[in-house]
Amino acid sequence: MENCIFCKILRGDFGTEFVYENDYAVVFKDINPKADTHLLVVPRLHVESLNELDDEVLLGKLLITVKEVTKKLGIKSYRTVINTGKEAGQEVFHLHIHILSGNIKF
Ligand code: AMP
Ligand code: ZN
Repeated sequence: MENCIFCKILRGDFGTEFVYENDYAVVFKDINPKADTHLLVVPRLHVESLNELDDEVLLGKLLITVKEVTKKLGIKSYRTVINTGKEAGQEVFHLHIHILSGNIKF
């Protein structure tokens, strides 16, 4: 999507470093970290929120991506968060999974 910040990141517009990527998603550091480690798992496909995603394979792959990147980084204990909708705190309307670990302020 043209004006979606995460789509722009996916296109490489800001030169954001991906700490992990696979066929389905990229993972990068949250710009405003709420924990020692705060990552965002972002599907390559633009989907506004969990409410708009019916693809069970992609849903599964996104959680597998969480496991892959935490394993790669040696993170054994972490919290995952998905904010769905403005009232729940969703600010970027491109589905993403937060991974938080260490001194979580969330
Ligand atoms: P949410 O409130 O669940 O929509 O989360 C959006 C998250 O994206 C927030 O934690 C922001 O800090 C983060 N964020 C916004 N813009 C960027 C960016 N350019 N690079 C990395 N993280 C970002
Ligand atoms: Zn997008």
